Amino acid sequence: MAAIKLLPELLINQIAAGEVVERPASALKEILENSIDASATRIDIQLLQGGIKQMRITDNGTGIAKDELIPALTRHSTSKISSLDDLHKITSLGFRGEALASISAISNLVLTSQTDTQNHAWQVQVNCGSITQPRPAALSRGTVVEAHDFFANIPARRKFLKTETTEYTHCEDVLKRMALVRPDVEFTLEHNGKLRHQYPITDISQRIKAVLGEDFMQSVASINEQAADIRLQGVVALPAYSRASRDTQYFFVNHRFIRDRLIAHAIREAYRDVLHLDRYPAFVLFLEMNPSEVDVNVHPAKSEIKFRDPRALHQFIFHAVQKSLARPSKEMHPELV
Ligand code: ADP
Ligand code: MG
Repeated sequence: MAAIKLLPELLINQIAAGEVVERPASALKEILENSIDASATRIDIQLLQGGIKQMRITDNGTGIAKDELIPALTRHSTSKISSLDDLHKITSLGFRGEALASISAISNLVLTSQTDTQNHAWQVQVNCGSITQPRPAALSRGTVVEAHDFFANIPARRKFLKTETTEYTHCEDVLKRMALVRPDVEFTLEHNGKLRHQYPITDISQRIKAVLGEDFMQSVASINEQAADIRLQGVVALPAYSRASRDTQYFFVNHRFIRDRLIAHAIREAYRDVLHLDRYPAFVLFLEMNPSEVDVNVHPAKSEIKFRDPRALHQFIFHAVQKSLARPSKEMHPELV
């Protein structure tokens, strides 16, 4: 057996990137989360060839100062938490400090940013894992993240990418999720030079309509259920609007899109008597609860979470959905607007 040795930094990042960046859409998700965490109110996405060739995300958020650009690209470096304690009261979408490091390990990355206080913007580039020193650049307040040639340096991973169209569809899904939960942010998406989606800032019901269509909004009952320190809001489609797949199931916990079997089960049970077995319910639901009641650090992509009291939550969701299907109302809660 060979001697045990510490792997080079780039290889460590490339291995770790496997967990965070499965495909261009996962990079897009991370980059959008960073823009949201930076309080952006406008985010423009430009993709070439399904995001494989290039993705460029421009936000108008708080920006990254010159001296922070290199730390931002360094693994386990984050401005969002500093102690174990913080992990239990997370309100930001990011906290692992590995997204930019991972993305730059499997693509060529250009990071340009301007804050409120600098005379001009600064730019750093990462090529094959090596970072350049910051250079002056031109940009108004905000950040541009540009990633080129996904997995060009890792042919084994590149092989697993699907067609341009499929990768593009995954990117679209990422945008839809973010657009649904953040109607207070404007989003645009261009693909191969063509504007494909534009979501202006609006209220939640208009945003749901813009993302999921008029038909969906015509067929929903609203939910607004509150218990001690937990609240469920949103819309569930009436059984007539059922789907042949899970394609219209959006569940957010504290503004984070998640997939969870327990939640899926609770909702399914609520539809039990009104939905055929081979049909799937459609819903957009937002759960707000104390961050200390959930553990978001279960999975690198942060799309799975653990609840402290899963049974109580199951009951709560089941009853809320069942009640709303039994007595459908269209009134959205003003706080959601
Ligand atoms: P995390 O989001 O988990 O902190 P990332 O690797 O995604 O880790 O980002 C590292 C750091 O870079 C963030 O903590 C943040 O300080 C900074 N950053 C990244 N993207 C942006 C952005 N669009 N605007 C402002 N700061 C950003
Ligand atoms: Mg992040």
